[in-house]
Amino acid sequence: MTDRPPVPKPLPLPDEASAPFWKGANEGRLMLMRCSSCGTHRLPSRMHCDQCLSPESEWVQASGRGTVRTFGVMHQRYHPGFAAELPYNVTIVELEEGPRLPTNLVGVANESITVGMPVVVSWEHHDDVTLPKFRIA
Ligand SMILES: [Zn+2]
Repeated sequence: MTDRPPVPKPLPLPDEASAPFWKGANEGRLMLMRCSSCGTHRLPSRMHCDQCLSPESEWVQASGRGTVRTFGVMHQRYHPGFAAELPYNVTIVELEEGPRLPTNLVGVANESITVGMPVVVSWEHHDDVTLPKFRIA
């Protein structure tokens, strides 16, 4: 307990619209919304398809695989809960299904991260929520 930061990191609070995403995460399944009209995948909880504007969608399980689209390394402490992790990466993973998910890469030195690197989801469990992080595939 002594190695915990004095201020906890803020964590997402699932709401009704995003509940299927977080329920899937708790079960180790990366869930996306898929447009019922054109099949385009999107991140929760966008209510309309970016391609055809249809509000109709279904939840589907993503492969969990993607590539690093871009990333940055944070050296500045913007929230005290992150102080112990500086410097940490913020990475945009382009999923196989298309959506680009903001996340962190784990199990890799920040200096070793490269754009285009293949990655796979790696779940980070907290008391009330499970977060999709990524590691090198
Ligand atoms: Zn669509």
